[in-house]
Amino acid sequence: MSRFLTDKILKLKPYVPGEQPKERQYIKLNTNESPFPPSEKARALAKSELDKLQLYPDPDVKELTAAVANEYGVKSENVIMTNGSDEVLNFAFMAYCDESRLAVFPSVTYGFYKVFAAVNGINYKEIPLKEDFSIDVNDYIGVDGTVFIANPNAPTGLTISLADIEKLLSSNTDRIVVIDQAYIDFGGESAVKLIDNYDNLLVTHTFSKSRSMAGARLGFGIANKSIIEDLHRIRYSTNPYNVNRTTAAVGLGAILDKEYFEKNCAIIKENRAFTESELKKLSFTMTKSNANFVFAKHGAISGKDLYLKLKEKGVLVRHFEGATVSDYIRITVGSYEEMTAFIQAVKDILKEISQ
Ligand code: PMP
Repeated sequence: MSRFLTDKILKLKPYVPGEQPKERQYIKLNTNESPFPPSEKARALAKSELDKLQLYPDPDVKELTAAVANEYGVKSENVIMTNGSDEVLNFAFMAYCDESRLAVFPSVTYGFYKVFAAVNGINYKEIPLKEDFSIDVNDYIGVDGTVFIANPNAPTGLTISLADIEKLLSSNTDRIVVIDQAYIDFGGESAVKLIDNYDNLLVTHTFSKSRSMAGARLGFGIANKSIIEDLHRIRYSTNPYNVNRTTAAVGLGAILDKEYFEKNCAIIKENRAFTESELKKLSFTMTKSNANFVFAKHGAISGKDLYLKLKEKGVLVRHFEGATVSDYIRITVGSYEEMTAFIQAVKDILKEISQ
């Protein structure tokens, strides 16, 4: 670090993304990516954009925005496209929190929320989960601040109901509630249908998981028109060309290829059920995940040791430090072949430690 860095940034603890190792070919089940490539149609559209890269993209990515709006049954004025959903989340922290307006989120959730708060100089309050890792919305009722809830939550995969989301929204109509739906295509009830009834709701989505586009960086927010205007105001004050030409083209192709998207989501759900049933046979306990990952622990081996031993065997999963979660590993649901190899590696490890 240089001696010029401000105190605020010096004190920051940046987000640590899951490993992306190059030294060895791993079965990579650590960052909730899709095992499937982007749709063929999407890739074809992207190729034609390569000839136009000397030109800036449309800052409002109108065609893509309209296609997303159409897919979600809203108007273009209700949608903002961003560089991954991380960007729209960051915009929400910037727009709706400051030193006096807290950010409020569960104590176990997407690790970036804390970092978005810190980098923007925002105070935050973490609300503990219940012992079974579930979120009790009653704990948020009297809390004054902008609420961020991942639904399904990460890394637990647990969901809250639409009725609970409505309770949050109506309990304090003067605060924004952000529902981060990065994993909603794998389970849970979408809150998008509530945007006409609640002007304090922002729903965020990503193309990174269910639409196989983590490498392209595309996300979006859906809300009433005035919230979307707020977020565009920030976008035009930071990076108006936040969605590049190739990403916009792949995104458009991905949205239009509904059949491919639905097929892949169905396969992931099947593979999740397979993984859960195999893990149960091996005496693992796990949360009821609605996401493209499984959060599991075993009584005979710590989460950290299991993570390390799997890594030795060429299978990469995610382990989080922290009192309540360190017994667990989070396993991304990949292809059937990947999950079979993962289960075999777990069986081998359990055998080795019992000898
Ligand atoms: N929200 C949650 C809950 C996530 O787990 C992630 C991905 N790690 C994101 C948002 C951000 O994803 P992206 O920026 O790739 O859209």
